[in-house]
Amino acid sequence: MGRLRVKRIGVMGGTFDPIHYGHLVTAEEARQQFALDLVIFMPSGHPPHKEDRGNLDPESRYLMTVIATASNPSFQVSRMEINRPGPSYTIDTVRELHGIYGKNTAIFFITGADAVLEILTWKEPENVLSECTLIAATRPGYNLSRLEELLPEVGKEERGDVPKVLVMEIPALAISSTDIRRRVSEGRPIRYLVPEGVREFIEKNGFYR
Ligand code: ATP
Ligand code: MG
Repeated sequence: MGRLRVKRIGVMGGTFDPIHYGHLVTAEEARQQFALDLVIFMPSGHPPHKEDRGNLDPESRYLMTVIATASNPSFQVSRMEINRPGPSYTIDTVRELHGIYGKNTAIFFITGADAVLEILTWKEPENVLSECTLIAATRPGYNLSRLEELLPEVGKEERGDVPKVLVMEIPALAISSTDIRRRVSEGRPIRYLVPEGVREFIEKNGFYR
């Protein structure tokens, strides 16, 4: 799709260490519910919140993300945060995307509800909310009161009439990268938790053992 025709972009940020079906179901549901033209998966280069974790190198996380998204025509993977030196901040990514696609393209930043709460610790949270819309994925029954309590404090000047945080229910998916890494290290199966190609890539390279 030509860049000028892209009006609504979803951005699925993450460490993707490794990418799993929770990420993919969330991105696909957001694409459909909010009529996104495409969803860009954005593996983080140097995650500012995760420096303490033993991350796989960005290149391997990027490759797994490409393998996992290859069959979906609406999914793309960007090297933007991997190529940018220093820590990855959402505000820098949103501005770079607006530079590429134009100011009139709406950017929807897709996160799990847990990650939305971290917005308060992001760089320039008011500007993030004025330049893009957040889509918070929750599981059925998830209690949103803490989110609603915290978010009105952020970016209230710029909010206007457009809601800056949209809530989306996704089917319960108790999958996390942390659990997958632990499973591999303990020799337990990860089949059906990640796409088959990702599982094979992890095994072939001996990741997480
Ligand atoms: P880790 O366990 O290492 O923290 P993770 O599984 O949370 O990894 P991330 O790469 O940290 O994966 O997450 C990227 C984004 O995907 C975040 O916005 C997170 O909230 C969301 N996410 C992660 N797991 C799920 C899931 N099972 N369902 C919906 N969203 C998810
Ligand atoms: Mg996480």
